[in-house]
Amino acid sequence: MPSPFSLFDYPLVVIDVETTGISHRYGGVIDVGVLRIEDGQVVETFQHLINPGSRIPAFITQLTGITNDDLASAPYFADIAPQLQLLLKDCIFVAHNARFDYSFIKEEFRRLDIRYAPKILCTVKLSRGLYPQHRHHKLDALIERFDLQVADRHRAFGDAQATWQALEKMVQQAPVETVQHLVKQQLRQPSLPPQLAKETIDALPEGPGVYIFKNETGAPLYVGKSINIRSRVLSHFSDDVNAPKEMQLAQQTAHIETISTTGELSALLKESELIKQMLPIYNRLLRRKDELVLAIRHTNSQGFPVLKVERHSQIEPGSIGQVMAVFTSTRQAKELLLTLAKEHHLCHKLLGLQKTSSACFAQQLGTCLGACVSQESATEYERRFNTAFTNVRLQRWPYDGPIMVTEKKDAESTSFVLDQWCLVGTVVQRDQEISFTATSAAFDLDQYKILRQYLTKPHLETTIQLLQSADIDAMADMMTN
Ligand SMILES: [Zn+2]
Repeated sequence: MPSPFSLFDYPLVVIDVETTGISHRYGGVIDVGVLRIEDGQVVETFQHLINPGSRIPAFITQLTGITNDDLASAPYFADIAPQLQLLLKDCIFVAHNARFDYSFIKEEFRRLDIRYAPKILCTVKLSRGLYPQHRHHKLDALIERFDLQVADRHRAFGDAQATWQALEKMVQQAPVETVQHLVKQQLRQPSLPPQLAKETIDALPEGPGVYIFKNETGAPLYVGKSINIRSRVLSHFSDDVNAPKEMQLAQQTAHIETISTTGELSALLKESELIKQMLPIYNRLLRRKDELVLAIRHTNSQGFPVLKVERHSQIEPGSIGQVMAVFTSTRQAKELLLTLAKEHHLCHKLLGLQKTSSACFAQQLGTCLGACVSQESATEYERRFNTAFTNVRLQRWPYDGPIMVTEKKDAESTSFVLDQWCLVGTVVQRDQEISFTATSAAFDLDQYKILRQYLTKPHLETTIQLLQSADIDAMADMMTN
């Protein structure tokens, strides 16, 4: 007779953890116990105290008997992670109230950049399904129901053993079909897009790059980027996702294309380029704008700064200093300028909000301090004007000239030549081959935002060097040769 455990396609790991508290977001694992089960037999066990890197509250010591002294000499989770990862690999994660144990283990792995997304079987749910007549399904209730002999209650390994014994009883005693039905119900992962081939998921690369979700007819639905394509793509389909937009996207995705890059900046720039090119319907944030509404600064004959709000298809790199703000519509421009005028007592006439040959209406109300009729000094007005636009204006290029940002991965490197927030060209070096591609070097608002954010924080494995004119001549030579 086949073992009743043959209903499981994969080995089981029965797990219990003791933790520093209730929330996996802030807490950590302090004790872990694991039994690995194959064909109904325990084939391997694992138990370890873990140093959470912080002190544990007194009630945890009271419950578990684990003290801060015990943990001080214990290894950190990172130390035992490789061994645990190997033990858990390709197994069904089984625990009593599995969401709790899983959330902690998953979070500990996540902090080490390890993705862990097993199939999960909860013995509380199973007990509820098999024994609806019983009110209690806590571990103590099961121990009593099945008359289990358990040592070390409230320690991870003791509780994992109790969970395993309870599961064994349930699988052996209940009707096979019922157990099978309930187990299948739990192991199903309904949020994984049904039309996506398993090979597509398996083939997702772990490194940086861009991914494109397409529907059945091959139309692009969404373009995204990540430093780990695989984990980002899977997070779109995770069980925790309950945003309707994400659900719709998951339901419609039938194909996934990926483009690996040498690093984060390459991924960011590629993503921005593809979104403009493909216009995927789920990318609302980086929509292509053929025209920008710019607030451009001039100086009037009395020496006051004045604004002109104009539509432009381009920003000339040399005029970035004059662009006080960039908008996607004139309505948005008007709203912001009205707010700034009110907060900083700026003049509606000088901001271009009102056309008049005399004092502006705001001056009559007292919110404009009279710059329109020279009732205040130009210097004083300009000081408030500059303060008002500090956070919205385009930033000056912070370097003395063009720079080259280089990302390296394995035998490949990508260098971006950047000047005045514009991409001048890209140098790709693969093994011994070098190629240079010149770009239009036009100012692009999305690119500006990407670069501004990227260049303000340090990046590992990325070098930034200031270019001399000789370097640029050398690149131009490469182009012509
Ligand atoms: Zn005024």
